[in-house]
Amino acid sequence: MRILITGGAGYIGSHVLKALGKQGHDITIVDNLSTGFAKAITYGNLIVADLADRVKIESIFEAGKFDAVVHFAGSIVVPDSVTQPLFYYQNNTINSHFVLSMCDKFKIKYFIFSSTAAVYGMPESGVCHEDSELLPINPYGQSKLMTEHMLRDLAFANKGFKYIALRYFNVSGADPEGQIGQSFPKATHLIKAACEAATSKRTHMDLFGTDYPTKDGTCVRDYIHVSDLADAHVKALQFLEKGGESQPLNCGYGHGFSVKEVISRVKEITGVNFKVNELGRRAGDSASLTAESSRLSKLTGWKPKNDDLNIIIQSAYEWEKNRPY
Ligand code: UDP
Repeated sequence: MRILITGGAGYIGSHVLKALGKQGHDITIVDNLSTGFAKAITYGNLIVADLADRVKIESIFEAGKFDAVVHFAGSIVVPDSVTQPLFYYQNNTINSHFVLSMCDKFKIKYFIFSSTAAVYGMPESGVCHEDSELLPINPYGQSKLMTEHMLRDLAFANKGFKYIALRYFNVSGADPEGQIGQSFPKATHLIKAACEAATSKRTHMDLFGTDYPTKDGTCVRDYIHVSDLADAHVKALQFLEKGGESQPLNCGYGHGFSVKEVISRVKEITGVNFKVNELGRRAGDSASLTAESSRLSKLTGWKPKNDDLNIIIQSAYEWEKNRPY
């Protein structure tokens, strides 16, 4: 297939690029390199461009004759979305609207969207099923949900267009071959922050909120290894190619760990007893989010290979120690 990947130089995008590249697809990557790295491009042809540059993006679509688009480009930090909501709606929702208008114009057949568990908001049981109510509690989740709605309505109107919106849970870890990993500047994600503390890239880490209604008072998340997530994209695309129906699908392992559990596991694996400051709650955080993800496995044959917190942390730690970028 001829595939366009937006945001393919970023953390998740680069792992999906590698997985799709291994399959022999002809890939073009568009990335503005705001949080991505040219060194993360292991396959295909990188074009440095911003989705807001409508003229340039349209010319890329025109020349590319793509069969599929995998859309990552966007912003992903929950607390930032609370303080800069309009930036999130611009970058995530309005730019996605433009990408979809290009898909419609240039008759793209398949679309894989990088969505998020944040579309669920604060489910009472903490478990998110694809059919659970969608009540995002922060602009990040809302900005992604608005794109999901556009996808649903476009697929209804244009029968030649099919999509899967993969609702990611907490993506962590790095490529087992050590080639790519997370180098997001000023990273805010938990395992990344803990590995930075363990490698003395920061003096300490903060723990946000110890009074949640969870087993130990800290938030519970479903941490999924980035390589398993990348494989979910490959499987989702194959599913659409075989005639599968457009829909959202959860990407998680179905069980969660608290922030305290993750931090103590990072300390155990790295052998470093870094300093942790317990602070109040962070804006926009849900108490507990874990996936019901049997639908993805059942429909696409996805089988996770790294459903083990130790593997996730070990690979993130190896990346942090040896980072080439
Ligand atoms: N968290 C924390 N300290 C950090 C980073 C994250 O206590 O340095 C907590 C955060 O408040 C949330 C959980 O870890 O409860 C997961 O946050 P993360 O930013 O990794 O992912 P999110 O679930 O927000 O996408």
